[in-house]
Amino acid sequence: MKQQYKSYSQTCDFLQECVKNYPDIVSVKSLGKTWEDRDILIATISLNVENADLKPAMLYTGTIHAREWIGNELAVSFIDYLLKNYNTNPKILRTLRRNTLYIVPCVNPDGFEYSKSHFSFWRKNRRDNGDGTFGVDLNRNFSVGYQKIKDTASNVYSGPAPFSEPETMAMKNFVDTHENITIAFDYHSQGNVFFPAHKFNHEMEVDGTDLNTICANMNFEIQKITGRKYGIHRGKPPTKLISGSGREYYYSKGIIAAVVEVGTRNIPDFMQNMKESIDENIPALLRTLGEAQNYSVHAPKRVENFHIESYSYNEVTLSWDYEVNKDIYFQIFRNKEDKEACNESNLICETFNTSFTDIQLESGTAYYYYIRAVNNLTRVKSPFAPRTNIRTLLEPDEFSKTIFPLPSEVGYVAKKTIETNRKHFGYNSLFIGVNETKGVSYGVMQFSLDNIPANATILDAKISLYPLNRVNAKIEKYGEWSISFVDKQSVAELSDFDQIDNAIVIETLGNNIPSEKLTQGIWSHWNFNSSERDILQNQLESKKVLFKISGPTELPVGRDSQMMMFDLGYGNFGGGLHYRPRIDIKYTIPSTEVVLESSKVASVSQDTIDESKLICGFDANNYKIYGVMEFDLEQLPNPNETVITDSYIQIKNKKAPKTAQDIRYNVEFVDVEEITYDNIQNRDRIEFIGYEVSRADIQKQKIHKFIFDYYSRLALENVHRENEKAKFVIKPTSSDIKNHIVEWCGKDVEDSVKLVVKYIQRRREPVSEVTNLGYTIDKNKVKLTWENPKDKDFVGVFVVRNRFHPPKNHLDGDKLYAGPDNYTYDDFGNIKICKYYSVFTYDNVPNYSEPVIIEYKVEKNDTKI
Ligand SMILES: [Zn+2]
Repeated sequence: MKQQYKSYSQTCDFLQECVKNYPDIVSVKSLGKTWEDRDILIATISLNVENADLKPAMLYTGTIHAREWIGNELAVSFIDYLLKNYNTNPKILRTLRRNTLYIVPCVNPDGFEYSKSHFSFWRKNRRDNGDGTFGVDLNRNFSVGYQKIKDTASNVYSGPAPFSEPETMAMKNFVDTHENITIAFDYHSQGNVFFPAHKFNHEMEVDGTDLNTICANMNFEIQKITGRKYGIHRGKPPTKLISGSGREYYYSKGIIAAVVEVGTRNIPDFMQNMKESIDENIPALLRTLGEAQNYSVHAPKRVENFHIESYSYNEVTLSWDYEVNKDIYFQIFRNKEDKEACNESNLICETFNTSFTDIQLESGTAYYYYIRAVNNLTRVKSPFAPRTNIRTLLEPDEFSKTIFPLPSEVGYVAKKTIETNRKHFGYNSLFIGVNETKGVSYGVMQFSLDNIPANATILDAKISLYPLNRVNAKIEKYGEWSISFVDKQSVAELSDFDQIDNAIVIETLGNNIPSEKLTQGIWSHWNFNSSERDILQNQLESKKVLFKISGPTELPVGRDSQMMMFDLGYGNFGGGLHYRPRIDIKYTIPSTEVVLESSKVASVSQDTIDESKLICGFDANNYKIYGVMEFDLEQLPNPNETVITDSYIQIKNKKAPKTAQDIRYNVEFVDVEEITYDNIQNRDRIEFIGYEVSRADIQKQKIHKFIFDYYSRLALENVHRENEKAKFVIKPTSSDIKNHIVEWCGKDVEDSVKLVVKYIQRRREPVSEVTNLGYTIDKNKVKLTWENPKDKDFVGVFVVRNRFHPPKNHLDGDKLYAGPDNYTYDDFGNIKICKYYSVFTYDNVPNYSEPVIIEYKVEKNDTKI
C-alpha cells in the first residue's frame, strides 16, 4: 500500500511538470536545503502567478512530521485538482484571480524519505544530534512557547534552540517576508480534527470566532463529500498546549492558523481511506483559499460591539457599531450549536442597518449569532466579530433544569478491568467501545430527578456528552455510539460489568452516532423524541434515570482499538466541571383551577345603573346599554409566585330576543375607576377577551366562554399584582336597533357569571439583582465580590466574563461561576486585559435577573494577548 503514496522525488518531479504545463499559474522554488541537502520546495499558485505576492494568500504546509504522509499526498492532489480544473470551474477561477496559494507539500523531506524507505513511524527530521540519536521534532522548534528538552532521543525533542533547524528557519524566512499570507493550514495525521491556534491564554480573542468558523466551514464541505465531521478543538490552555509549533508562530504574525489532523492512522489504506481524506479536504481547502482576501488589507474592518439589545422567549434584537459607509452591508448568521458552519446555509439577514431583530425563536434555547461586514462593490468580507450568544427566556409556564450525574454515578465498566471498574466512577474519562486491554467497555450514568416534580410534563430533553479524544477510535467508519434507557431494577451495582452488560434496555435514544461523526471538541447531543420523553416522564416517580452508553463491541481482524473517550468532568484528564455529561430537561406542571364569582355586576344605561342584573343591548333611543362585571382577585394566590396559564369568563344568557338582525356581543377587559355611563363610554380598553358571540350563538346555546389570550392573561396578573379589581364590559357590537336587550345570569343565581383562572406555582419575574459588585486582585487573579439579594426564592448567581462587550445574557461569554456564593475568582483570566463581568441572579425556574455589570480596567491593556 505504501507504493501508492508519492515519494519526495516523485513530488519534486510532479511540481516541475506542473510548472512546465501551467507556467502562468504555477511557480516553484526552494525555500532552502535540509541537513541531507534536499530542497524544501514551495509551489505558488495564482492566476498571473507573477503577481502572486501582491494578492492575499493562504499557506499550506504538509508532512512536517515525517510519518504523516497525508500532508504531502493531499498537497499533490490539491495542486493537480486546481490545475486540471481551473479553466472549467468558475469557483476556482474566482478564487485564484484574487487569492494566492503557497503550498509546501513536505516541510520535512529528510524525515519523509526515511519514513518512506526505512522506518514508517519516524517523526522528526534527520539532524545528527551527535550523541548517537537523530532528529528534532520540527513542530517543537519554532520560537513561540519554545521549550528546551534534554532528551535528544525523545520523539518531541525540540532541538538545541528555536529555529536551529534549516526546515523551520526556511519557513520562518518565508513567512516573515510574505505579509500577504492571511491564513495558514498545517496538515498532520491523525484524528479527523482541527486544532486552531492559541495565544496560551484562557481569554476570548478577537479572532477566536474566525478560527473556529473557518474550520467549521471546512467541515461543511467535508460533510458534503463523505458525511464525516471533524472535531474542532482548541485544547485546554494553558497547560496542555504544544510548545514551539509552526501554527503558533504563524498566528503570532497575525495569520489565522490551524492544524488539521486527518484520518485515523498515519499511513492508512490508500484506496479505502487516504482517497476519502483527500477527496473531502480539497473542496474545504478551496473554500478556505477563497477566504484569504477576507483577512487581508483589502477587507472591510471587523464589526465592533456586536451585542444583544433585548430579547424575549421568541425574539432577539442585536445591534452593532460601524463607521458610516454606504458601500458596506452586514451579514448575520445564526446557529443553535457551537462550532457550526457560518455560510450561505445559516445566513439569516443581510442589511445596511446596524440592528436586526430575529423572530420566531424557540423558548429556553441557546442561539449563537455571528456577523461580518461586506463591501457591496468588491464583495470582500470582513473577519467575523466576536460571536454573541443568548439563551431565550422560557415561556411563562415552562421550567428547565440542567442535571449532572454525581461523581459516584458516572463512569465506565470494562470487561477486562473487573477489579478496578469501581474506580472508573467520578474519575478520568468515559472509555466506550472496545480495545485489547479493556475489552468491551460501556459508559454508565445515572441522573437524579429530585428537582423535577413527579407530575411534571416533559416538554424537551437532551443528553450531552463531550468527546474528549478519538485517537483510540482508529478505524474509519466503523461502529456507532448510542445511549439507552436502562431498567434500574435490573442493575443493583452500577460498577458491575456483567450487570451493565446484561441490563434490560428500555429503549435506545433516537440517533446513534456513527464513528465518522463523533468529533472531539464538539459536544454530541441526543435529543429525546416524544416516546423517549414519555419514558423519562415515567421515571420521575422513582426520582432516578439510568443510562448505558455503548460503542462497538467487536474488532475487525488485525485491529486493536475502537474506543472513544468522553469527558467526565472530574479528575485531571478532562476539561473540568464544565465538560461533565448532562441532561437538559424542559417541563411544565399541571395547573390549579380557581373559579371566581363576580363581586359586582351592573347594567349601565344612559339614565340608570342597575346593580341587580346584567343586561346589555340598546335602549328605546338606540343608546347602548353596557353590562359590567367586576371580580375581586383576592382569592387568587400570591401573584409573585404564580403564573396564570389559562383563564376565561363564563356567561350564561337568560333570554335571547328574536331578531333577524346580525347582532354580536363581545367582552372587553377594561380599566375604569367609578362606574358611570360616561366612564364606561370613554373606557380604556385593555383587550378584547376571546371572540364575540352572535345572536345565532345565543339561540343555540346558553353558556359562553370568553377565553383570555396571552396578553390578557398578563394584564390579569398585573391587575392582581396591583391589588385592583378586574373589570369587564359586555356589549353589542352593532348599533342600528332599538329596544334590543339581552339578559345574562348576573349574580346570586345558578350559573351566574364566572371568572375561571388556572395557574401554576412559578415565578414570572426574577428575584432582585445583586448589589455592591466589586473586584480586587487577589493571588494574581481577579476576585469578584457582591451581595446576594434577600429574596426567599433566590437560588444563586451566574457570573459571566466577556472581553468585548458587557454580557446581557448569562450565555454571552465565558461562564465563571454558578451557585449561591457571594464571590468568585476568575481563575484563568488574564489580569492585564480589560473586560466586562456580569452577575445574574436566578430562582428555581430559572428566571435570570438583569445583569449587574462591572468593567474591569487596566492601565496598559495588553492587546497583543
Ligand atoms: Zn503531526
